[in-house]
Amino acid sequence: MPGIPLRNGGPAARIAVIPGDGIGAEVTPQAVKVLRAATRPARRSIEFVEFDWGADKYLREGISLPSGAVEMLRDEFDAILFGALGDPRVPSNQHAADILLGLRFKLDLYINARPVELLHDRLTPLRDRTEKDIRLMVLRENTEGLYVGVGGFFKKGTPDEIAVQEDVNSRKGVERIIRYAFEYARQNGLKRVCMSDKSNAMTFAHDLWQRVFKEVRQEYANIESRHLYIDALAMEIVREPGQFDVIVTCNLFGDIISDLGAQLAGGLGLAPSANIHPGKTSLFEPVHGSAPNIAGKGIANPLGSVLTSAMMLEFLGWRSEAAALRTAVRAALRENCVTPDLGGSKRTAEMGDWLVAKSVEALTQQH
Ligand code: ATP
Repeated sequence: MPGIPLRNGGPAARIAVIPGDGIGAEVTPQAVKVLRAATRPARRSIEFVEFDWGADKYLREGISLPSGAVEMLRDEFDAILFGALGDPRVPSNQHAADILLGLRFKLDLYINARPVELLHDRLTPLRDRTEKDIRLMVLRENTEGLYVGVGGFFKKGTPDEIAVQEDVNSRKGVERIIRYAFEYARQNGLKRVCMSDKSNAMTFAHDLWQRVFKEVRQEYANIESRHLYIDALAMEIVREPGQFDVIVTCNLFGDIISDLGAQLAGGLGLAPSANIHPGKTSLFEPVHGSAPNIAGKGIANPLGSVLTSAMMLEFLGWRSEAAALRTAVRAALRENCVTPDLGGSKRTAEMGDWLVAKSVEALTQQH
């Protein structure tokens, strides 16, 4: 997929690694292994510092996101490589909310970029669709909407209970994600931006989205802009995914439509994502969660984490290394060197070793 904004573009980077829970702790070390190998030949200096934030620490010490952590990440690191959070021993998922939502909100990572890219024809469940049909970017607003936690209960636990959850949309928040969608298209030579909302039912919140979209699109006359209600988008993205280049939408709809997109392109094991504030410390995580059902078995697919790492390298301005990681992932899919979720028999760590060798080979061929 096309690139994302630079953090520094310099030869050195400091990366905070938060493997987290479940398969997050299994796939992240593989991605780190591949990143180390792919950055070595070009004499990049990449330093990794690992943090043990997750369910174990939360259960042991009652600490989810340590105090001062946000400032430390913001001031001392270029990027954060994240695994996954979620553990059956913490049914409230409180630690995950504190850490992931805490970082998204406090680092003001207002763009959630989730590319939907089919890397091998056999991976899509859609009939007669090929790689050229499924290649789009979903840009999800990441700091507002229904996820801000404004709301409450009234008469909780009684038959008269009422639960309210507010959908918070600021002019600034809506404008910056819509503007980013057009900028992303322009900078990457893409022709079409689709904004999706539910303004026919959400007549206040999404009226704001409508007005801002109409205003901002006037500044981008060379880009074809279009609006679809979210229900129509859900149909169209399955019927004819090739009609989209960039989709921009609110927090909730982006969450849903990007999972749908992930399935179109081969499933959760492959899907990467980036939580970005252009030019500032940003967070990169595979779309999948901690997958407790397969955690600890050594069969988790590390490709999502490796593709996520490629997005991080692009953010750092290290394009040839990012391309090498993508070449390695494509080779794994072509040669069916994959984990059981994609029909193969490789184990997580074996795939990591294989991807290390392929990435280094790809870099050597570039030179
Ligand atoms: P969480 O509660 O942390 O979000 P979850 O089990 O609800 O976890 P995911 O972890 O996102 O949801 O994944 C759903 C299912 O997809 C998993 O149970 C697993 O079977 C499969 N899956 C997801 N990611 C991977 C992966 N990297 N490799 C193999 N299978 C995966």
